[in-house]
Amino acid sequence: MPWEPIRKPAEVRAHTNLGDYDQTRRRFSWSAARETMSGLGGGALNIAYEAVDRHPAGRTALRWVRQDGVVREFSYGELSRQSNRFAHLLRALGVRRGDRVYTLLGRVPELYVAVLGAFKAGCVVSPLFSAFGPEPVRQRLRLGEAAVLVTSPQLYDRKVARVRDSVPSLRHVLLTGDGDRPGTIALGPALAGAAPEFEIERTRPGDPALLHFTSGTTGTPKGAIHVHEAVVAHHVTAAYALDLRGEDVFWCTADPGWVTGMSYGVIAPLTHGATLVSDEGEFDARRWYSVLAGQGVTVWYTAPTALRMLMRHDPGLAKEYDLAALRFVASVGEPLNPEAVVWGQEALGLPVHDNWWQTETGAIMISNFAGEEIRPGSMGRPLPGVEAALLKQGEGGRAEVAGGQVTELRGGGCQGELALRPGWPSMFRGYWHDPERYEKAFAGGWYLTGDVARRDEDGYYWFVGRADDVIKSAGHLVGPFEVESALMAHPAVAEAGVIGRPDPVAGELVKAFVSLHEGFSPSEDLRAELLTFGRRALGAVAPKEIEFDQHLPHTRSGKVMRRLLKARELGLPEGDLSTVEGSS
Ligand code: ATP
Ligand code: MG
Repeated sequence: MPWEPIRKPAEVRAHTNLGDYDQTRRRFSWSAARETMSGLGGGALNIAYEAVDRHPAGRTALRWVRQDGVVREFSYGELSRQSNRFAHLLRALGVRRGDRVYTLLGRVPELYVAVLGAFKAGCVVSPLFSAFGPEPVRQRLRLGEAAVLVTSPQLYDRKVARVRDSVPSLRHVLLTGDGDRPGTIALGPALAGAAPEFEIERTRPGDPALLHFTSGTTGTPKGAIHVHEAVVAHHVTAAYALDLRGEDVFWCTADPGWVTGMSYGVIAPLTHGATLVSDEGEFDARRWYSVLAGQGVTVWYTAPTALRMLMRHDPGLAKEYDLAALRFVASVGEPLNPEAVVWGQEALGLPVHDNWWQTETGAIMISNFAGEEIRPGSMGRPLPGVEAALLKQGEGGRAEVAGGQVTELRGGGCQGELALRPGWPSMFRGYWHDPERYEKAFAGGWYLTGDVARRDEDGYYWFVGRADDVIKSAGHLVGPFEVESALMAHPAVAEAGVIGRPDPVAGELVKAFVSLHEGFSPSEDLRAELLTFGRRALGAVAPKEIEFDQHLPHTRSGKVMRRLLKARELGLPEGDLSTVEGSS
């Protein structure tokens, strides 16, 4: 292994929520965890109650950093009252339990109020990414049969007005502030006129609460349904994987339109009574460091794409800010290159903890834990309450299913499709209007994730690739991530996307698309150097072709879109582009 594990100092270990990993796993049970979260009593469970109403009213729930840098604070009490008003408003509009309430909002206080208020009224929340263009917005509103949409006047004009008529289910559009547009309701005055007390709908643990669309990395986005008891998993996993506690100031950089931004950018930190930092601004290295420093963020949850952007700057930049309060950094969304873990140690004084999960799993499943050994490049180990397995793959890369059965690979050093034993509370309960696809996601008592991973002797999981992305070259199985990480260890390489290009001799040939750091420019010499560099690091599975591309396609949630690189390379149709960064 080219990377040494990072061991954390003993004093950090003393803080960890996990303690001894094996012992915690043995002791843990979801049913015990469920019992800590049924504050409504009588078998009722509602996310909003667990997130907001059970905490002391005076505590700070939200610290909102406005675009212009002005900071506004909201207490748990205020959030409770405002979300009550929102729930009342929905009732007054005749919106019923189970109806879908969509949000299309940036990081603004109304977002938190609408989401929590909709839970209180028993509605199903579906958050949309505010940078979506009109077509992806229309698609998702239609697919989930939206009854209500909460958005801003600007977003309404740009993205909703012209598609509204083609979404017949959409009965009410609420606009933030007091923006007036024909056929819409101004949220500001409507909230002011609603009562601040509300009897929270007595939803059951298995009632639907969230409809989340996947990132669309592999194809058309799917709508995953989550239920109220998912909150139990949000709470527990934040404690274990993010080391989150009530005293923390927590910042999750993911957009609330994606599952990470909802599970960990809204729900989980509130269930702990922590203070949530929400930054309205766009990514900018200086802005981000100044939010970390200025807000005294203690726990930070971000993504490889953001870390790679920070890594493009001089490591000295971080040193200009006082990051003393920061004690835990985690990343999710795509593989975290070992390079980034080590960079964290140098620039932030803390390693970055990678963890793995999906829209479908609703919460973190595999993680490098606080106070435990980190293995750079590894996703870590399954959380307490999570049973993971690797299944033997068949032709095409997915788990081999014969007579409804699958083969579980045992021990360390094996590689297969990553599978999870259903039963954790944030497990998705369906793909909206696609029961067949849901059914196909299970076999032999396992949920099949579509990802391929390797497990080492000590039970750490290492991401290899999407089952569909894994390359078969001259008898070798090549995970694109491994090749990308190896290339990124070269000082010129900022980012890489690796695909298999059909080849008459090798079956597939490993081809890398590479973007360069500032100060480097494409040349034949550099190409030759990178090919040699790759060969030294990877041997037989090294890329045979390298193409320079400063604009690698990304999903809007920040993932390199290998399927698009491949489609372009092969001159094939590009498929669903609604989640490509920069599209509309
Ligand atoms: P779609 O399902 O529409 O193709 P998607 O799978 O990218 O899109 P998400 O649910 O947002 O949608 O992403 C989950 C996927 O992201 C995982 O299945 C995995 O492939 C990848 N991923 C998430 N975290 C990690 C990680 N820590 N390391 C490697 N891959 C990760
Ligand atoms: Mg997926």
